[in-house]
Amino acid sequence: MKTLILIDVQNDFMPGGPLPVPEGNLIVPVINQIQGYFDLVVATQDWHPKNHRSFASNHFNKKTYDSIVLHGMQQTLWPDHCIQGSSGADLHKDIEPNRIAAIFRKGMDPEIDSYSGFFDNNHQLSTGLSGYLKEKGISEVHFCGLAADICVYYSILDSILEGFSATLIEDASRPLFPDKFDDIKCELAKLGVRIITSNELRQK
Ligand SMILES: [Zn+2]
Repeated sequence: MKTLILIDVQNDFMPGGPLPVPEGNLIVPVINQIQGYFDLVVATQDWHPKNHRSFASNHFNKKTYDSIVLHGMQQTLWPDHCIQGSSGADLHKDIEPNRIAAIFRKGMDPEIDSYSGFFDNNHQLSTGLSGYLKEKGISEVHFCGLAADICVYYSILDSILEGFSATLIEDASRPLFPDKFDDIKCELAKLGVRIITSNELRQK
């Protein structure tokens, strides 16, 4: 079963939002074009309570993008984003929703961030995504979404740990820090991740 996982295609990560990924809006039409090539489409949604400790605003005397140690883990402090129930946490309004079979929410524990759609950053809490895919007999997953170098990247790493083979659809993703993205792509390729463009799906 060909499976597409949309990572965090949410308003707050779009240009103009509080945590904008450059050109993040440009992936929306690409994602809509490719959904039909997949038998199963699922999505993830960053879904934080207001008091989430990944927000700089919840720390005294800290700025956004500062780095702190939180429960023994390095934690970047982000602008407030994707607050539960806010319009900023909604999927982009132009994402065609009808084929999205399930949405897995993450980052709900105020103490622990969750970049990956599978597990929190401490690898203690599962979202259930791995079990959901395995129950459906899925062994190969395609990823797209935002940000390619953070939540998509960590989701891909976890998918490999969980035994899936992973493909990144590069033009259906955008990194938060484009300058460093080549290094991440090299790392993913070394791990056996296929990196393709949406055109390669169309040619099949
Ligand atoms: Zn977040």
